[in-house]
Amino acid sequence: MVAVLRACQPQPWTVLRHARCFTAHADGNVNGPSPRIAIIGSGPAGFYTAQKLMRDVEGTKIDMYEQLPVPFGLVRSGVAPDHPEVKNCQDSFNEVAASPNYTFIGNINLGHDLPLHLLAKYYDAIVFAYGASKDRKIGLVGEDRPYIYSARAFVGWYNGLPEYRNLNPDLTAGDTAVVVGQGNVALDVARVLLSPLDHLKGTDMTEYALDALSSSKIRHIHVVGRRGPLQAAFTIKEVRELINLPDVNFAPIPSHLFPADLKQLPRPKRRILELLQKGRPYSASASRSWSLDFLLAPKELRYSSTDPTRLEGVTFARTSLANPTSVASVVETTGETVTLATTTLFRSIGYKAEPIPGLAEIGADFDERAGTLSHDGFGRLIGLGTSSQLDTDGESSQRLRSRAQPGLYCSGWVKRGPTGVIASTMSDAFETAEGIVADWKRATELATQSLPPRDGWDGVKREAESQGLRLLPVHWDEWQRINAEELQRGESRGKPREKFGSLEEMLRAGQRSGS
Ligand SMILES: Cc1cc2nc3c(=O)[nH]c(=O)nc-3n(C[C@H](O)[C@H](O)[C@H](O)COP(=O)(O)OP(=O)(O)OC[C@H]3O[C@@H](n4cnc5c(N)ncnc54)[C@H](O)[C@@H]3O)c2cc1C
Repeated sequence: MVAVLRACQPQPWTVLRHARCFTAHADGNVNGPSPRIAIIGSGPAGFYTAQKLMRDVEGTKIDMYEQLPVPFGLVRSGVAPDHPEVKNCQDSFNEVAASPNYTFIGNINLGHDLPLHLLAKYYDAIVFAYGASKDRKIGLVGEDRPYIYSARAFVGWYNGLPEYRNLNPDLTAGDTAVVVGQGNVALDVARVLLSPLDHLKGTDMTEYALDALSSSKIRHIHVVGRRGPLQAAFTIKEVRELINLPDVNFAPIPSHLFPADLKQLPRPKRRILELLQKGRPYSASASRSWSLDFLLAPKELRYSSTDPTRLEGVTFARTSLANPTSVASVVETTGETVTLATTTLFRSIGYKAEPIPGLAEIGADFDERAGTLSHDGFGRLIGLGTSSQLDTDGESSQRLRSRAQPGLYCSGWVKRGPTGVIASTMSDAFETAEGIVADWKRATELATQSLPPRDGWDGVKREAESQGLRLLPVHWDEWQRINAEELQRGESRGKPREKFGSLEEMLRAGQRSGS
Protein backbone atom coordinates (compact mmCIF):
# COMPACT_ATOMS: atom_id res chain seq x y z
CA MET A 1 0.00 0.00 0.00
CA VAL A 2 1.54 3.28 -1.06
CA ALA A 3 0.36 6.52 0.45
CA VAL A 4 0.84 9.49 -1.83
CA LEU A 5 0.21 12.96 -0.48
CA ARG A 6 -0.28 15.65 -3.06
CA ALA A 7 1.09 19.03 -2.08
CA CYS A 8 -1.44 21.69 -1.15
CA GLN A 9 -0.97 23.81 -4.28
CA PRO A 10 -3.51 25.99 -6.05
CA GLN A 11 -4.97 23.78 -8.76
CA PRO A 12 -7.18 25.00 -11.58
CA TRP A 13 -9.52 22.03 -11.33
CA THR A 14 -10.40 22.98 -7.81
CA VAL A 15 -12.47 25.93 -9.00
CA LEU A 16 -14.35 23.78 -11.44
CA ARG A 17 -15.06 21.09 -8.90
CA HIS A 18 -16.27 23.70 -6.47
CA ALA A 19 -18.40 25.30 -9.12
CA ARG A 20 -20.08 22.02 -9.84
CA CYS A 21 -20.47 21.02 -6.25
CA PHE A 22 -20.79 24.39 -4.48
CA THR A 23 -24.10 23.45 -2.97
CA ALA A 24 -23.37 19.75 -2.68
CA HIS A 25 -26.44 18.90 -4.78
CA ALA A 26 -25.70 15.93 -7.00
CA ASP A 27 -27.77 17.43 -9.82
CA GLY A 28 -25.67 20.61 -9.79
CA ASN A 29 -28.52 22.90 -8.80
CA VAL A 30 -28.16 25.75 -6.35
CA ASN A 31 -30.26 27.14 -3.56
CA GLY A 32 -31.00 30.64 -4.67
CA PRO A 33 -31.22 33.35 -5.52
CA SER A 34 -28.28 34.33 -3.30
CA PRO A 35 -26.07 32.31 -0.96
CA ARG A 36 -26.51 31.81 2.76
CA ILE A 37 -23.13 31.60 4.40
CA ALA A 38 -21.96 30.67 7.89
CA ILE A 39 -18.80 32.37 9.09
CA ILE A 40 -17.10 30.95 12.18
CA GLY A 41 -15.29 33.72 14.03
CA SER A 42 -16.07 37.43 14.34
CA GLY A 43 -12.54 38.83 14.14
CA PRO A 44 -11.24 40.90 11.22
CA ALA A 45 -11.13 37.84 8.93
CA GLY A 46 -14.78 37.03 9.57
CA PHE A 47 -16.00 40.60 9.16
CA TYR A 48 -13.93 41.44 6.07
CA THR A 49 -15.03 38.20 4.39
CA ALA A 50 -18.65 39.06 5.20
CA GLN A 51 -18.24 42.62 3.95
CA LYS A 52 -16.90 41.55 0.56
CA LEU A 53 -19.45 38.77 0.10
CA MET A 54 -22.35 41.06 0.91
CA ARG A 55 -21.02 43.71 -1.47
CA ASP A 56 -20.29 41.38 -4.36
CA VAL A 57 -23.39 39.18 -4.39
CA GLU A 58 -26.55 41.07 -3.67
CA GLY A 59 -28.76 39.45 -1.06
CA THR A 60 -26.00 37.27 0.46
CA LYS A 61 -27.01 36.30 3.97
CA ILE A 62 -24.34 35.93 6.61
CA ASP A 63 -24.70 34.11 9.93
CA MET A 64 -21.58 34.81 11.98
CA TYR A 65 -20.88 32.38 14.83
CA GLU A 66 -18.64 33.54 17.67
CA GLN A 67 -17.58 31.66 20.79
CA LEU A 68 -17.69 34.78 22.98
CA PRO A 69 -20.75 36.91 23.69
CA VAL A 70 -18.74 39.83 22.23
CA PRO A 71 -17.43 40.32 18.67
CA PHE A 72 -14.20 41.54 17.01
CA GLY A 73 -11.64 38.87 18.01
CA LEU A 74 -8.14 40.21 18.60
CA VAL A 75 -9.22 43.76 17.83
CA ARG A 76 -10.85 43.61 21.24
CA SER A 77 -8.66 41.09 23.05
CA GLY A 78 -5.23 41.53 21.42
CA VAL A 79 -4.62 45.05 20.13
CA ALA A 80 -2.91 47.09 22.83
CA PRO A 81 -5.17 49.44 24.82
CA ASP A 82 -2.85 52.38 24.09
CA HIS A 83 -3.37 51.87 20.32
CA PRO A 84 -7.04 52.89 20.09
CA GLU A 85 -6.69 54.10 16.48
CA VAL A 86 -6.08 50.49 15.38
CA LYS A 87 -9.58 49.62 16.56
CA ASN A 88 -11.18 52.01 14.06
CA CYS A 89 -11.75 49.00 11.80
CA GLN A 90 -14.68 48.26 14.12
CA ASP A 91 -16.57 51.06 12.34
CA SER A 92 -16.57 48.98 9.14
CA PHE A 93 -17.55 45.89 11.10
CA ASN A 94 -20.48 47.76 12.66
CA GLU A 95 -21.64 48.73 9.16
CA VAL A 96 -21.62 45.06 8.12
CA ALA A 97 -23.58 44.13 11.23
CA ALA A 98 -26.18 46.82 10.54
CA SER A 99 -27.32 44.99 7.40
CA PRO A 100 -30.61 43.07 7.69
CA ASN A 101 -28.77 40.22 5.93
CA TYR A 102 -26.32 39.82 8.81
CA THR A 103 -26.94 37.76 11.96
CA PHE A 104 -24.52 37.61 14.88
CA ILE A 105 -24.71 34.39 16.88
CA GLY A 106 -22.37 34.88 19.80
CA ASN A 107 -21.67 32.66 22.80
CA ILE A 108 -21.61 29.55 20.57
CA ASN A 109 -18.34 27.68 20.53
CA LEU A 110 -18.45 25.75 17.26
CA GLY A 111 -17.28 22.19 17.58
CA HIS A 112 -18.04 22.24 21.32
CA ASP A 113 -21.49 23.76 21.94
CA LEU A 114 -22.64 22.90 18.44
CA PRO A 115 -21.29 20.10 16.24
CA LEU A 116 -19.84 21.34 12.96
CA HIS A 117 -21.66 18.77 10.85
CA LEU A 118 -24.97 20.20 11.99
CA LEU A 119 -24.23 23.41 10.09
CA ALA A 120 -23.51 21.84 6.73
CA LYS A 121 -27.01 21.28 5.39
CA TYR A 122 -28.28 24.73 6.36
CA TYR A 123 -25.68 26.74 4.45
CA ASP A 124 -24.34 27.06 0.93
CA ALA A 125 -20.87 27.62 2.31
CA ILE A 126 -19.03 27.66 5.63
CA VAL A 127 -16.07 29.98 6.15
CA PHE A 128 -13.65 29.15 8.96
CA ALA A 129 -12.27 32.41 10.34
CA TYR A 130 -11.60 31.31 13.89
CA GLY A 131 -8.07 32.67 14.19
CA ALA A 132 -5.24 31.23 16.22
CA SER A 133 -6.32 30.89 19.80
CA LYS A 134 -3.40 29.07 21.38
CA ASP A 135 0.19 30.10 21.90
CA ARG A 136 3.42 28.40 20.98
CA LYS A 137 5.62 27.08 23.74
CA ILE A 138 9.40 27.36 23.92
CA GLY A 139 9.79 23.74 24.97
CA LEU A 140 11.72 24.30 28.22
CA VAL A 141 11.41 22.07 31.25
CA GLY A 142 9.28 23.90 33.84
CA GLU A 143 7.59 26.23 31.38
CA ASP A 144 4.22 25.77 33.10
CA ARG A 145 5.52 26.80 36.51
CA PRO A 146 4.74 30.08 38.32
CA TYR A 147 6.21 33.40 37.15
CA ILE A 148 6.14 32.29 33.52
CA TYR A 149 3.36 33.79 31.45
CA SER A 150 2.46 33.45 27.83
CA ALA A 151 2.10 36.79 26.07
CA ARG A 152 -1.29 35.60 24.85
CA ALA A 153 -2.47 35.09 28.43
CA PHE A 154 -0.98 38.37 29.67
CA VAL A 155 -2.40 40.38 26.75
CA GLY A 156 -5.78 38.62 27.09
CA TRP A 157 -5.75 39.36 30.82
CA TYR A 158 -5.17 43.10 30.53
CA ASN A 159 -7.64 43.26 27.62
CA GLY A 160 -10.50 41.54 29.48
CA LEU A 161 -10.52 38.17 27.70
CA PRO A 162 -12.63 35.97 30.03
CA GLU A 163 -10.32 32.97 29.57
CA TYR A 164 -7.58 34.87 31.43
CA ARG A 165 -9.62 36.88 33.94
CA ASN A 166 -8.02 34.93 36.79
CA LEU A 167 -4.44 34.94 35.51
CA ASN A 168 -3.44 37.40 38.25
CA PRO A 169 0.19 37.65 37.16
CA ASP A 170 2.52 38.31 40.06
CA LEU A 171 4.47 41.40 39.00
CA THR A 172 6.01 41.91 42.41
CA ALA A 173 8.55 39.08 42.55
CA GLY A 174 11.50 41.21 41.44
CA ASP A 175 12.57 44.16 39.34
CA THR A 176 13.68 42.39 36.16
CA ALA A 177 11.60 40.57 33.56
CA VAL A 178 12.59 38.72 30.43
CA VAL A 179 10.39 38.67 27.35
CA VAL A 180 11.32 35.85 24.98
CA GLY A 181 10.49 36.85 21.42
CA GLN A 182 11.03 39.99 19.38
CA GLY A 183 7.78 40.51 17.51
CA ASN A 184 5.30 43.33 18.01
CA VAL A 185 3.39 41.41 20.68
CA ALA A 186 6.61 41.09 22.72
CA LEU A 187 7.07 44.86 22.43
CA ASP A 188 3.43 45.43 23.45
CA VAL A 189 4.09 43.42 26.62
CA ALA A 190 7.28 45.35 27.40
CA ARG A 191 5.63 48.71 26.69
CA VAL A 192 2.65 47.96 28.94
CA LEU A 193 5.00 46.94 31.77
CA LEU A 194 7.18 50.05 31.41
CA SER A 195 4.59 52.72 30.56
CA PRO A 196 3.68 55.37 33.10
CA LEU A 197 0.47 54.22 34.75
CA ASP A 198 -1.23 57.56 34.11
CA HIS A 199 -0.84 56.95 30.40
CA LEU A 200 -2.55 53.55 30.63
CA LYS A 201 -5.32 54.83 32.90
CA GLY A 202 -6.77 56.79 29.99
CA THR A 203 -7.12 53.63 27.86
CA ASP A 204 -9.62 50.77 27.89
CA MET A 205 -7.22 48.54 29.85
CA THR A 206 -9.20 46.65 32.49
CA GLU A 207 -9.29 48.12 35.98
CA TYR A 208 -7.96 44.94 37.60
CA ALA A 209 -4.92 45.04 35.27
CA LEU A 210 -4.29 48.68 36.13
CA ASP A 211 -4.42 47.74 39.82
CA ALA A 212 -1.88 44.96 39.34
CA LEU A 213 0.38 47.21 37.25
CA SER A 214 0.25 49.90 39.93
CA SER A 215 2.01 47.54 42.33
CA SER A 216 4.37 46.09 39.72
CA LYS A 217 8.02 46.08 40.78
CA ILE A 218 9.28 45.38 37.27
CA ARG A 219 11.69 48.13 36.23
CA HIS A 220 14.03 46.45 33.73
CA ILE A 221 13.11 44.29 30.77
CA HIS A 222 15.22 42.19 28.43
CA VAL A 223 13.47 41.53 25.13
CA VAL A 224 15.37 38.54 23.82
CA GLY A 225 15.59 37.02 20.34
CA ARG A 226 17.47 34.16 18.71
CA ARG A 227 18.58 36.22 15.75
CA GLY A 228 20.04 39.68 15.09
CA PRO A 229 18.61 43.19 14.61
CA LEU A 230 18.23 42.65 10.86
CA GLN A 231 16.09 39.55 11.41
CA ALA A 232 13.90 40.86 14.25
CA ALA A 233 10.16 40.75 13.50
CA PHE A 234 9.02 43.98 15.19
CA THR A 235 8.01 46.99 13.11
CA ILE A 236 9.21 50.56 13.40
CA LYS A 237 6.16 52.09 15.10
CA GLU A 238 6.27 49.66 18.01
CA VAL A 239 10.02 49.89 18.60
CA ARG A 240 9.99 53.69 18.31
CA GLU A 241 7.26 53.94 20.92
CA LEU A 242 9.31 51.90 23.38
CA ILE A 243 12.50 53.82 22.70
CA ASN A 244 10.65 57.09 23.32
CA LEU A 245 8.90 56.09 26.56
CA PRO A 246 9.47 58.74 29.23
CA ASP A 247 11.69 57.84 32.19
CA VAL A 248 12.96 54.68 30.43
CA ASN A 249 16.53 54.08 29.25
CA PHE A 250 17.25 51.93 26.21
CA ALA A 251 20.48 49.92 26.35
CA PRO A 252 22.75 50.60 23.35
CA ILE A 253 23.04 47.70 20.91
CA PRO A 254 26.64 46.57 20.23
CA SER A 255 27.73 48.02 16.88
CA HIS A 256 29.08 44.71 15.55
CA LEU A 257 25.50 43.38 15.40
CA PHE A 258 24.57 45.80 12.62
CA PRO A 259 25.28 45.09 8.94
CA ALA A 260 28.22 47.16 7.67
CA ASP A 261 26.25 49.04 5.02
CA LEU A 262 22.69 49.89 5.99
CA LYS A 263 22.13 51.73 2.71
CA GLN A 264 21.94 48.41 0.87
CA LEU A 265 18.87 47.37 2.85
CA PRO A 266 15.25 47.78 1.79
CA ARG A 267 13.90 51.05 3.20
CA PRO A 268 11.68 49.66 6.01
CA LYS A 269 14.54 47.55 7.41
CA ARG A 270 17.05 50.34 6.99
CA ARG A 271 14.86 52.76 8.95
CA ILE A 272 14.44 50.29 11.82
CA LEU A 273 18.16 49.62 12.02
CA GLU A 274 18.99 53.34 11.88
CA LEU A 275 16.58 53.91 14.74
CA LEU A 276 18.12 51.09 16.79
CA GLN A 277 21.62 52.31 16.04
CA LYS A 278 20.76 55.84 17.09
CA GLY A 279 19.16 54.53 20.28
CA ARG A 280 18.46 57.07 22.97
CA PRO A 281 20.74 59.26 25.07
CA TYR A 282 21.29 57.75 28.52
CA SER A 283 19.43 59.50 31.32
CA ALA A 284 20.88 59.16 34.83
CA SER A 285 17.51 59.99 36.32
CA ALA A 286 15.46 57.37 34.42
CA SER A 287 13.95 54.82 36.80
CA ARG A 288 13.35 52.10 34.22
CA SER A 289 15.19 50.49 31.34
CA TRP A 290 14.91 47.94 28.61
CA SER A 291 17.22 46.22 26.18
CA LEU A 292 17.01 44.22 23.00
CA ASP A 293 19.18 41.16 23.54
CA PHE A 294 20.07 39.44 20.29
CA LEU A 295 21.49 36.03 19.34
CA LEU A 296 20.20 34.20 22.42
CA ALA A 297 18.11 31.01 22.34
CA PRO A 298 16.41 29.97 25.62
CA LYS A 299 17.94 26.82 27.04
CA GLU A 300 17.08 26.40 30.71
CA LEU A 301 14.97 27.95 33.45
CA ARG A 302 16.77 28.47 36.75
CA TYR A 303 14.88 28.20 40.00
CA SER A 304 15.92 29.09 43.54
CA SER A 305 17.54 26.22 45.43
CA THR A 306 15.75 27.26 48.63
CA ASP A 307 12.35 27.97 47.07
CA PRO A 308 11.85 25.86 43.94
CA THR A 309 8.80 27.94 42.93
CA ARG A 310 10.96 31.08 42.56
CA LEU A 311 12.37 31.79 39.12
CA GLU A 312 15.86 33.23 39.40
CA GLY A 313 17.10 33.33 35.85
CA VAL A 314 17.08 31.98 32.34
CA THR A 315 20.08 30.46 30.63
CA PHE A 316 20.38 31.09 26.92
CA ALA A 317 22.54 29.43 24.30
CA ARG A 318 24.51 32.05 22.38
CA THR A 319 23.74 31.73 18.68
CA SER A 320 25.37 32.99 15.52
CA LEU A 321 23.84 33.76 12.17
CA ALA A 322 24.59 31.40 9.29
CA ASN A 323 24.14 34.32 6.89
CA PRO A 324 24.28 37.63 8.81
CA THR A 325 23.26 39.75 5.81
CA SER A 326 20.10 37.73 5.12
CA VAL A 327 16.80 38.73 6.71
CA ALA A 328 15.86 35.05 6.70
CA SER A 329 19.14 33.74 8.10
CA VAL A 330 18.99 30.61 10.23
CA VAL A 331 20.97 30.45 13.48
CA GLU A 332 23.57 28.06 14.77
CA THR A 333 24.52 27.55 18.41
CA THR A 334 28.04 28.51 19.43
CA GLY A 335 28.43 26.38 22.56
CA GLU A 336 28.56 29.52 24.72
CA THR A 337 25.80 30.20 27.27
CA VAL A 338 24.54 33.38 28.91
CA THR A 339 22.35 33.57 32.02
CA LEU A 340 20.06 36.55 32.58
CA ALA A 341 18.86 37.05 36.14
CA THR A 342 15.08 37.46 36.20
CA THR A 343 12.11 36.71 38.39
CA THR A 344 9.44 36.83 35.70
CA LEU A 345 9.35 35.52 32.16
CA PHE A 346 6.95 36.29 29.33
CA ARG A 347 6.90 33.91 26.39
CA SER A 348 6.03 35.68 23.15
CA ILE A 349 7.07 33.42 20.32
CA GLY A 350 3.82 33.35 18.42
CA TYR A 351 0.22 32.27 18.41
CA LYS A 352 -0.98 28.92 17.14
CA ALA A 353 -4.18 27.76 15.46
CA GLU A 354 -5.74 24.47 16.45
CA PRO A 355 -8.24 22.20 14.74
CA ILE A 356 -11.75 22.52 16.11
CA PRO A 357 -13.54 19.24 16.85
CA GLY A 358 -15.48 17.75 13.95
CA LEU A 359 -13.36 19.07 11.07
CA ALA A 360 -12.53 15.60 9.77
CA GLU A 361 -16.19 14.62 9.94
CA ILE A 362 -17.10 17.30 7.41
CA GLY A 363 -14.13 16.46 5.21
CA ALA A 364 -11.75 19.24 6.28
CA ASP A 365 -8.14 18.68 7.18
CA PHE A 366 -5.92 20.57 9.62
CA ASP A 367 -2.28 20.81 8.59
CA GLU A 368 -0.48 20.42 11.93
CA ARG A 369 2.88 21.33 10.46
CA ALA A 370 1.70 24.60 8.93
CA GLY A 371 -0.71 25.23 11.83
CA THR A 372 -3.51 26.13 9.41
CA LEU A 373 -6.47 24.49 7.76
CA SER A 374 -5.41 22.72 4.56
CA HIS A 375 -6.50 24.81 1.60
CA ASP A 376 -5.71 25.43 -2.03
CA GLY A 377 -3.77 28.64 -1.43
CA PHE A 378 -6.86 30.79 -1.98
CA GLY A 379 -8.91 29.63 1.00
CA ARG A 380 -10.83 26.69 -0.52
CA LEU A 381 -10.52 23.83 1.94
CA ILE A 382 -8.83 20.64 0.93
CA GLY A 383 -9.40 17.40 2.78
CA LEU A 384 -7.53 14.16 2.69
CA GLY A 385 -9.21 11.12 1.27
CA THR A 386 -8.20 7.78 -0.12
CA SER A 387 -8.82 6.41 -3.56
CA SER A 388 -8.23 2.93 -4.95
CA GLN A 389 -5.98 2.38 -7.91
CA LEU A 390 -4.41 -0.54 -9.72
CA ASP A 391 -0.63 -0.74 -9.37
CA THR A 392 1.63 -1.94 -12.21
CA ASP A 393 1.63 -5.43 -10.72
CA GLY A 394 -2.16 -5.51 -10.94
CA GLU A 395 -2.62 -5.16 -7.15
CA SER A 396 -5.19 -2.70 -5.89
CA SER A 397 -3.82 -0.11 -3.47
CA GLN A 398 -5.12 2.88 -1.58
CA ARG A 399 -3.67 6.29 -2.36
CA LEU A 400 -4.04 9.20 -0.01
CA ARG A 401 -5.12 12.22 -2.02
CA SER A 402 -5.99 15.79 -1.24
CA ARG A 403 -9.52 16.58 -2.33
CA ALA A 404 -11.28 19.90 -2.68
CA GLN A 405 -14.06 20.22 -0.12
CA PRO A 406 -16.95 21.99 -1.83
CA GLY A 407 -18.54 24.78 0.12
CA LEU A 408 -15.80 24.95 2.77
CA TYR A 409 -13.44 27.92 2.98
CA CYS A 410 -11.05 29.60 5.38
CA SER A 411 -9.87 33.12 5.98
CA GLY A 412 -7.45 35.07 8.20
CA TRP A 413 -4.99 33.61 10.67
CA VAL A 414 -6.42 30.09 10.46
CA LYS A 415 -5.77 30.26 6.71
CA ARG A 416 -2.30 31.75 6.49
CA GLY A 417 -0.94 31.28 10.01
CA PRO A 418 -0.75 33.73 12.90
CA THR A 419 1.19 36.52 11.26
CA GLY A 420 0.22 39.82 9.77
CA VAL A 421 -1.67 42.90 10.78
CA ILE A 422 -5.33 43.73 10.31
CA ALA A 423 -4.66 45.17 6.84
CA SER A 424 -3.09 41.92 5.63
CA THR A 425 -5.93 39.94 7.22
CA MET A 426 -8.32 42.12 5.23
CA SER A 427 -6.57 41.36 1.91
CA ASP A 428 -6.56 37.72 2.80
CA ALA A 429 -10.28 37.75 3.66
CA PHE A 430 -11.08 39.51 0.39
CA GLU A 431 -9.19 36.83 -1.51
CA THR A 432 -11.27 34.09 0.14
CA ALA A 433 -14.49 36.01 -0.53
CA GLU A 434 -13.54 36.43 -4.20
CA GLY A 435 -13.12 32.67 -4.47
CA ILE A 436 -16.52 32.06 -2.92
CA VAL A 437 -18.16 34.58 -5.23
CA ALA A 438 -16.51 33.04 -8.30
CA ASP A 439 -17.60 29.56 -7.24
CA TRP A 440 -21.13 30.73 -6.54
CA LYS A 441 -21.45 32.54 -9.86
CA ARG A 442 -20.16 29.52 -11.76
CA ALA A 443 -22.54 27.24 -9.89
CA THR A 444 -25.55 29.44 -10.66
CA GLU A 445 -24.57 29.57 -14.35
CA LEU A 446 -24.43 25.79 -14.51
CA ALA A 447 -27.61 25.19 -12.52
CA THR A 448 -30.78 24.30 -14.38
CA GLN A 449 -33.13 25.30 -11.59
CA SER A 450 -33.02 27.32 -8.40
CA LEU A 451 -34.00 25.53 -5.20
CA PRO A 452 -35.47 27.32 -2.17
CA PRO A 453 -32.94 29.27 -0.08
CA ARG A 454 -31.33 27.46 2.81
CA ASP A 455 -32.60 27.94 6.35
CA GLY A 456 -29.36 29.09 7.97
CA TRP A 457 -29.53 29.82 11.71
CA ASP A 458 -33.28 29.05 11.90
CA GLY A 459 -32.64 25.52 10.68
CA VAL A 460 -29.58 25.06 12.88
CA LYS A 461 -31.49 26.25 15.94
CA ARG A 462 -34.41 23.94 15.17
CA GLU A 463 -32.19 20.94 14.75
CA ALA A 464 -30.08 21.77 17.81
CA GLU A 465 -33.25 22.01 19.90
CA SER A 466 -34.55 18.72 18.53
CA GLN A 467 -31.28 17.13 19.59
CA GLY A 468 -31.59 18.57 23.09
CA LEU A 469 -28.61 20.92 22.74
CA ARG A 470 -28.90 23.86 25.10
CA LEU A 471 -27.64 26.94 23.29
CA LEU A 472 -27.61 30.44 24.75
CA PRO A 473 -26.97 32.58 21.68
CA VAL A 474 -26.14 36.25 22.08
CA HIS A 475 -27.32 38.36 19.15
CA TRP A 476 -26.20 41.80 17.98
CA ASP A 477 -28.79 43.73 19.99
CA GLU A 478 -27.58 41.99 23.15
CA TRP A 479 -23.97 42.79 22.27
CA GLN A 480 -25.05 46.39 21.85
CA ARG A 481 -26.37 46.36 25.40
CA ILE A 482 -23.08 44.92 26.64
CA ASN A 483 -21.26 47.56 24.61
CA ALA A 484 -23.39 50.39 26.00
CA GLU A 485 -22.75 49.26 29.57
CA GLU A 486 -19.04 48.93 29.00
CA LEU A 487 -18.91 52.45 27.55
CA GLN A 488 -20.91 53.79 30.47
CA ARG A 489 -18.68 52.04 33.03
CA GLY A 490 -15.68 53.54 31.25
CA GLU A 491 -17.13 57.04 31.23
CA SER A 492 -17.66 56.99 34.97
CA ARG A 493 -13.96 56.11 35.38
CA GLY A 494 -12.70 58.67 32.85
CA LYS A 495 -11.71 56.07 30.26
CA PRO A 496 -13.15 55.03 26.89
CA ARG A 497 -14.49 51.68 28.08
CA GLU A 498 -14.43 49.34 31.06
CA LYS A 499 -14.74 45.82 29.68
CA PHE A 500 -16.53 42.99 31.39
CA GLY A 501 -13.93 40.37 32.22
CA SER A 502 -16.17 37.34 32.68
CA LEU A 503 -18.72 35.56 30.53
CA GLU A 504 -21.31 35.77 33.32
CA GLU A 505 -21.01 39.55 33.53
CA MET A 506 -21.26 39.84 29.75
CA LEU A 507 -24.33 37.62 29.58
CA ARG A 508 -26.02 39.44 32.43
CA ALA A 509 -25.39 42.80 30.77
CA GLY A 510 -26.74 41.46 27.47
CA GLN A 511 -29.99 40.49 29.13
CA ARG A 512 -30.27 43.49 31.44
CA SER A 513 -33.12 45.18 29.60
CA GLY A 514 -35.46 44.59 26.74
CA SER A 515 -35.43 40.78 26.60
C1 LIG B 1 -1.52 40.77 20.89
C2 LIG B 1 -1.80 41.18 19.47
C3 LIG B 1 -1.77 42.53 19.13
C4 LIG B 1 -2.03 42.92 17.81
N1 LIG B 1 -1.97 44.24 17.50
C5 LIG B 1 -2.21 44.64 16.24
C6 LIG B 1 -2.13 46.02 15.91
O1 LIG B 1 -1.84 46.87 16.75
N2 LIG B 1 -2.40 46.37 14.61
C7 LIG B 1 -2.74 45.44 13.66
O2 LIG B 1 -3.01 45.82 12.50
N3 LIG B 1 -2.80 44.11 13.95
C8 LIG B 1 -2.54 43.70 15.21
N4 LIG B 1 -2.59 42.36 15.51
C9 LIG B 1 -2.92 41.39 14.44
C10 LIG B 1 -4.45 41.25 14.25
O3 LIG B 1 -5.07 41.18 15.50
C11 LIG B 1 -4.74 40.01 13.39
O4 LIG B 1 -4.21 40.25 12.09
C12 LIG B 1 -6.23 39.70 13.24
O5 LIG B 1 -6.93 39.83 14.45
C13 LIG B 1 -6.45 38.27 12.72
O6 LIG B 1 -7.82 38.13 12.48
P1 LIG B 1 -8.63 36.74 12.52
O7 LIG B 1 -10.05 37.12 12.31
O8 LIG B 1 -7.99 35.76 11.63
O9 LIG B 1 -8.43 36.18 14.02
P2 LIG B 1 -9.03 36.70 15.40
O10 LIG B 1 -8.95 38.18 15.49
O11 LIG B 1 -8.35 35.92 16.45
O12 LIG B 1 -10.58 36.29 15.37
C14 LIG B 1 -10.99 34.96 15.49
C15 LIG B 1 -12.35 34.91 16.18
O13 LIG B 1 -12.84 33.56 16.14
C16 LIG B 1 -13.42 33.24 17.39
N5 LIG B 1 -13.41 31.77 17.57
C17 LIG B 1 -12.34 30.98 17.82
N6 LIG B 1 -12.72 29.69 17.91
C18 LIG B 1 -14.06 29.66 17.71
C19 LIG B 1 -15.02 28.62 17.70
N7 LIG B 1 -14.68 27.35 17.90
N8 LIG B 1 -16.33 28.95 17.51
C20 LIG B 1 -16.69 30.25 17.31
N9 LIG B 1 -15.81 31.27 17.31
C21 LIG B 1 -14.51 30.99 17.50
C22 LIG B 1 -12.54 33.97 18.38
O14 LIG B 1 -13.19 34.14 19.63
C23 LIG B 1 -12.30 35.29 17.65
O15 LIG B 1 -13.31 36.22 17.93
C24 LIG B 1 -2.33 41.94 16.82
C25 LIG B 1 -2.34 40.59 17.16
C26 LIG B 1 -2.08 40.21 18.47
C27 LIG B 1 -2.07 38.75 18.82
